[in-house]
Amino acid sequence: APATFTGADVYQRSFDPREYLKEFYSLSEGQPNVFLMQNLRSLHEMFSLDGLRGDTLIDVGCGPTIYQLLSACERFQEIIALDYTDQNRRELEKWLRDEAGAFDWRPVVKYVCELEGDREKWAEKEETLRRKVRRVLKCDVTAANPTGPVSLPPADCVVSTLCLEAACKDLATFRGALRNVGALLKPGGHLVLLTVLRETYYAFNQQVFSCLRLERNTVEEAVEGAGFDV
Ligand code: SAH
Repeated sequence: APATFTGADVYQRSFDPREYLKEFYSLSEGQPNVFLMQNLRSLHEMFSLDGLRGDTLIDVGCGPTIYQLLSACERFQEIIALDYTDQNRRELEKWLRDEAGAFDWRPVVKYVCELEGDREKWAEKEETLRRKVRRVLKCDVTAANPTGPVSLPPADCVVSTLCLEAACKDLATFRGALRNVGALLKPGGHLVLLTVLRETYYAFNQQVFSCLRLERNTVEEAVEGAGFDV
């Protein structure tokens, strides 16, 4: 594990989105990516729930990835993606604009389409997602207003995957971040939180990032403490 907490400044200085994507979001026939596929199945199940639909969805700590929005984009009209790190937002925008050299998400998109019943709809889903992501903005989950001087209209749903445990140095900060993120929602809005449990770090490309070690009940208590029903 890294000796110290790797804060937002470390992400900004040294997080390499291309290496991150290559390490964790490649999907090839030969070596199935169990962690990713499990997360995609969970997201598919959650975004199949009856109440989970509406106008606006905010993705907090999106990083350079889109997998977390592939099921969600069928349920919401407009999506706003937020992340602290400039190069991660740029990498995401590259895909959204379909620019040359953008990461190839097609195997992942096809897998989600298969979960939803028709693998052949992948191009349609890519088009839907590209159309629905309206803004990509900087945010800091440790700030009372995560989007800084910008105030967003309250959303119907917030999704956040693998961000808070990376962004928070201790449980008090994690609890605070959940309240900050909760404040982005309309009353009665939904939070879809994907968290890794019992990890203290993750590494790729010979770089190590810290991770707040969490137990399932700690997360549930913190989510309840931020005013949500679990
Ligand atoms: N959601 C993506 C990325 C997770 S990596 C996925 O599921 O793979 C963790 C992300 O948290 C990085 O993109 C990093 O830039 C972001 N991050 C770290 N500290 C943050 C902070 N204080 N506020 C907002 N985002 C932060």
